[in-house]
Amino acid sequence: MTASEAKPITYANPELAGSEKPGTSIHLPYGFGPIPPADSSKPNKVFYFDIDNCLYQRSTRIHDMMQDKIHQYFKDSLQLDDEEAHKLHINYYREYGLALEGLVRNHQVDALEYNAQVDDALDLKSVLHYNQQLRDMLIRIKETHKFDYFWLVTNAYKNHALRVISFLGLGDLFDGLTFCDYSKFPIICKPMNEYFFHFLDLTHTSTNFRTPGVLKQQYFVDDSEINVKAAHRLGFGNVIHYVELEEEYKKLKQKVDFEEFYGSGDNADLSKIRIVRDILDLESVIGN
Ligand SMILES: [Mg+2]
Repeated sequence: MTASEAKPITYANPELAGSEKPGTSIHLPYGFGPIPPADSSKPNKVFYFDIDNCLYQRSTRIHDMMQDKIHQYFKDSLQLDDEEAHKLHINYYREYGLALEGLVRNHQVDALEYNAQVDDALDLKSVLHYNQQLRDMLIRIKETHKFDYFWLVTNAYKNHALRVISFLGLGDLFDGLTFCDYSKFPIICKPMNEYFFHFLDLTHTSTNFRTPGVLKQQYFVDDSEINVKAAHRLGFGNVIHYVELEEEYKKLKQKVDFEEFYGSGDNADLSKIRIVRDILDLESVIGN
């Protein structure tokens, strides 16, 4: 791949038409990647950001809105009653990690049609709002010049990712986006190693990210326990787990492998996963 393959992404969310606020329009200079070749003597240092339930709070209940849409999709597309739809949805989620994967494998569902009726149909406007505080914090982190790139990494399809970022007013702060491509089969998403390798390749063009020390310099923030553990296992040196809910935090601390992944849980050991309870605390745990 060459740098010329990267096309900038611009997107104006029609639901925000007329908004003059910075960041409501999207401009990602390197689009879906790749970024320009790095100087091999100086590997890129990238901050990778998850989007859903990470750059906005889980308490927006977007996840629940999505579950309702998925349930309706199972009912309508497979002609199931509520109970059958619920069972199948749960089974596919357990078996494949994504309900969609089960639908594509077993029912030849068109993944992009599904996406249009589920993710793209969510009423995000009613729950996601311009987040000036988050915007200001991300700008402060950028201004430290510790990072060469800010990169979004999501398990959603691109449309949803761009909509979310525009509603939050963060559309001009990232260099690019890696999304989960529902049009491919099988679907590759976090926490699969293949997905990590895919976005690492796109952001470390001429520097092999497997070179010792390169992954140690990278930053990754996500609200999903399996995703942060996967990043940590792969060798990311700076993994941050956003744990919003108290109940989830308590459960996490009780796990037998807590110390292995999180140390004593006070973020003192920078070789372990760091925990933030509010995304606005990100700035305080990024170290030097
Ligand atoms: Mg997430």
